[in-house]
Amino acid sequence: MKKLRLATLWLDGCSGCHMSLLDTDQRLLELTRYYDVVYSPLMDIKIFPEAVDVALIEGAISTDEDERMARAVRRQSAVLIAMGDCAVTGNIPAMRNSTGATELLRRVYGTPDQENTPIPSTDLPTLLDKALPLHRYIAVDHFIPGCPPSADALCAALLAVAKGETPCPNSRFGA
Ligand code: SF4
Repeated sequence: MKKLRLATLWLDGCSGCHMSLLDTDQRLLELTRYYDVVYSPLMDIKIFPEAVDVALIEGAISTDEDERMARAVRRQSAVLIAMGDCAVTGNIPAMRNSTGATELLRRVYGTPDQENTPIPSTDLPTLLDKALPLHRYIAVDHFIPGCPPSADALCAALLAVAKGETPCPNSRFGA
């Protein structure tokens, strides 16, 4: 059996969803019967590969770099899954959405004319006005809610997709 190429991506999240993925413990061995991991924050690979079969994305889209990566992953992945509440609804990152990026940065860093005000690095990605869930930017095939989703839910979803048990687009795997 040809294994599926699995990628995982970490956007504006706390990494808790990836920790939950690791909590699948010995079931990881069963998952490796179906998947080869080709890109992940758990590996030292810098360039997102082409021809990915399944991509799991953790986190909301909060910066221009998040948006660029999410769009690239969508282009290069056959099945894309929103992993966890930040990716599904915005969740914790979206708590800043009552104000825009400029006002948010002013509240955190002050104004440049204030003495001893730290200036955010210009090398950082640009903060978008709102932190939004994945589906506001790209098509999402499946959603796995939870903060974090349980290891059981992640494992069940990956096994279902590997076995072709994907009854309808935009299905929701249990938390
Ligand atoms: S859904 Fe929860 S565990 Fe996952 S990245 Fe967001 S805050 Fe962290």
